[in-house]
Amino acid sequence: MNFSDMKTIFCAIFGGLIVFSSLGFYSVSMAEEWGFYAHRKLNRLAVFTLPPEMMPLFKKEIESLSTHAVDPDRRRYATPFEGPRHYIDLDVYGEFPYDNLPREWNKALAKFSSVKILDRCSGAEVPDTHLIYFPYIHFDEEVQNKNKAYGEFDSLLAMNYQEFFNPRVPCDFYRPPWKYPLSDWPEKKSVFGCPGEDCCEILITDHISKYGIITYYLPMIQRHLTRAMRNGDKARILRHAADIGHYIGDAHVPLHTTVNYNGQLTGQTGIHAFWESRIPELFAEDFDLIVGKAEYIEDKEEFFWDVVLYTHQKVDSVLAIEQRLRDSFPEDAQMCFEDRLQQTIQQPCREFALAYEREMNGMVERQMRKTIYAIGSSWYTAWVDAGEPDLGEPVVTDQSHQLESDSLRRVYQRGGIYGREQVNE
Ligand SMILES: [Zn+2]
Repeated sequence: MNFSDMKTIFCAIFGGLIVFSSLGFYSVSMAEEWGFYAHRKLNRLAVFTLPPEMMPLFKKEIESLSTHAVDPDRRRYATPFEGPRHYIDLDVYGEFPYDNLPREWNKALAKFSSVKILDRCSGAEVPDTHLIYFPYIHFDEEVQNKNKAYGEFDSLLAMNYQEFFNPRVPCDFYRPPWKYPLSDWPEKKSVFGCPGEDCCEILITDHISKYGIITYYLPMIQRHLTRAMRNGDKARILRHAADIGHYIGDAHVPLHTTVNYNGQLTGQTGIHAFWESRIPELFAEDFDLIVGKAEYIEDKEEFFWDVVLYTHQKVDSVLAIEQRLRDSFPEDAQMCFEDRLQQTIQQPCREFALAYEREMNGMVERQMRKTIYAIGSSWYTAWVDAGEPDLGEPVVTDQSHQLESDSLRRVYQRGGIYGREQVNE
């Protein structure tokens, strides 16, 4: 058995999805066509919330918006920067509503990055390293007993750290540590006692990305969409609209807001795909997903934070109800074998899934309704903020979106995800 086979098995089991056939185990990437069902449906239905003036582009390109709704998940196989954009583990930061987590990216990244000084003044090959600040992350220290906080962030702020940091903030994530000459930060020298500016460097290491950044990424991509609208760049409008629809979808899934994202910490591994893939696939055709008109979003940052915080408040119910049901439902009626795409797979039975959605008082349906409204409102708001441009002719001729999407599909089918192994997110 080679590495790829091993990974396949790991992915399949981790996702609560066990795939058998006469040929053995198959890659989860073969399961994509039904795992992405909900994202495609949400983007499609969001089109019908829009005003008539937007329809010449959005209605005409509804297939494109729906098809490309899954591109961001495939992108997770192409770049390590993509994964953290799909989630945020809010509970690693302590207690709801997580006021210690700054709502602005610059501030959050500064606060949850460590700061060291590298002193090369002695001429030795290995520099002396002085730890100046190491962030406190509740989960790391209390649960994992891994890191120890060091230093006060406030004392860095008193030395104009934020002003030093802001112009250097990277737009992407999971980079190696960033290094800057100490001379870039005028307030520091005497404090850190480094003998010379020329032989000392500041080393900054990100500790936030691994816990996800969706709340920070959503406003960013909203700005990209608005800019594309303003420029009348229809290919980019469609790309960003399809993308943000995906991320807004993820932001409405409670398990995208917790460190226990697949129930792996509570013995409920596989609940992720159960909630967000299995239930929509079984029942979404019967859901009431007509949600009325899109509305203008005044404060984008606040809107997206509110969405995620609201979603996060459902995490306890999602986990507790599934556990209660697992304990009370007849054991042999919980998991069923089904033939799909010439494979036999085991997944939650229809009746079991129905009981779960009922016990949650229709949570998946309600969250899908909220998602459709939010996607439509995001698209509509970008259009208004861009000055309500004419979205009629000429048609889109730029094929770059399709080309990118095709290459993402190939990368995805090859496998090898960056970051978390997770089925169908
Ligand atoms: Zn996703």
